[in-house]
Amino acid sequence: MEKLEYAQEGRTELGALGEFALIDRLTDEFECKNKTTIKGVGDDCAVLGKGKTKTVVTTDTMVEGVHFDMMYTPLKHLGYKAVAMSLSDICAMNATPRQILVSIAVSNRYSVEALEDLYAGIRLCCDRYDVDLVGGDTTTSRAGMMINVTAIGEVTEEAIAYRSGAKMHDLICVSGDLGSAYAGLLILEREKVTYQADPNFKPDLESYDYVLERFLKPEPRADIVKLLAEKEIVPTSMIDVSDGLASELLHICKQSHCGCEVYEDRIPIDYQTTRVCSEMSQNMLPVSCALNGGEDYELLFTISQKDYEKIKDNEEIHIIGHITEEGAPAVMVTPQNTTITLQAQGWTAHE
Ligand code: ADP
Ligand code: MG
Repeated sequence: MEKLEYAQEGRTELGALGEFALIDRLTDEFECKNKTTIKGVGDDCAVLGKGKTKTVVTTDTMVEGVHFDMMYTPLKHLGYKAVAMSLSDICAMNATPRQILVSIAVSNRYSVEALEDLYAGIRLCCDRYDVDLVGGDTTTSRAGMMINVTAIGEVTEEAIAYRSGAKMHDLICVSGDLGSAYAGLLILEREKVTYQADPNFKPDLESYDYVLERFLKPEPRADIVKLLAEKEIVPTSMIDVSDGLASELLHICKQSHCGCEVYEDRIPIDYQTTRVCSEMSQNMLPVSCALNGGEDYELLFTISQKDYEKIKDNEEIHIIGHITEEGAPAVMVTPQNTTITLQAQGWTAHE
């Protein structure tokens, strides 16, 4: 039997690489062998199939204590969110979601009724987006819950939007508003600490309804995919905002071999997000929530300038900047005209 060799020396800690470098390193030596694999690792979904209509597939996992906290996550919301997150990746290919498979790992800490609540949320999201639950897996976990959703969608060949198609001068657009999901998380974390200090404390969450809903029950922007089709726009590139605007812009720039310039005062931020930031003890900037918060599940996409007239009056779509030439950095321009280089986490000012 072939002996497996374990590297003793030269051990690299996981933290030294970061998520994206780790994925690159692990998948680098895999080559796609099948003609039906149109796009493998590297976009929001893999693209598969032979005919004019392609299948797109994605998978996403949520782990208790990492992606959700049972103290403030109702199971029904968790089920809804797990599905919504995967459907968002289908939308990010400009595709229509059709089916999901759901795998769960649970400990006996959970009752049948609790899992029924989880599935009530899954069903609600399936009904809302006309998606069929077609399979999955159920297994035991020793510590906490894990939920994985694989989503499958459909898109015609001409309409597929990859991360790699942005061209110089294209307009950068984003749907909805950014940073609100993170603002919701900040509120939940704050109330949790207060509750732990005094279990009789009853939090007043009513005035935070919008940001809490954005964090606990996000919606994939299937409506934007539909709208783009109605307006006969195929985005030149697209990605969903799961890790924050800065990180997603950098993905588009890297894969499209271009730079970008976005304007701080064009980034859509809800007034509730701004209010939450001003309430936080450390001086939190709303724009930091938008750039680095993540979990908004909005669509970030680029369109050719010729399509500007078709979307300029749409209130759900905001033009926040444009694509610049290859080799140029990804930057944000402040209202004071300072240029800031975007980084995947945080950002630094230019000299
Ligand atoms: P998203 O945020 O859109 O869900 P990710 O950042 O999770 O995308 O993943 C980026 C790309 O890497 C995707 O194409 C995904 O399928 C792929 N990927 C992520 N983790 C792995 C893994 N462990 N093995 C193979 N491919 C992976
Ligand atoms: Mg994505």
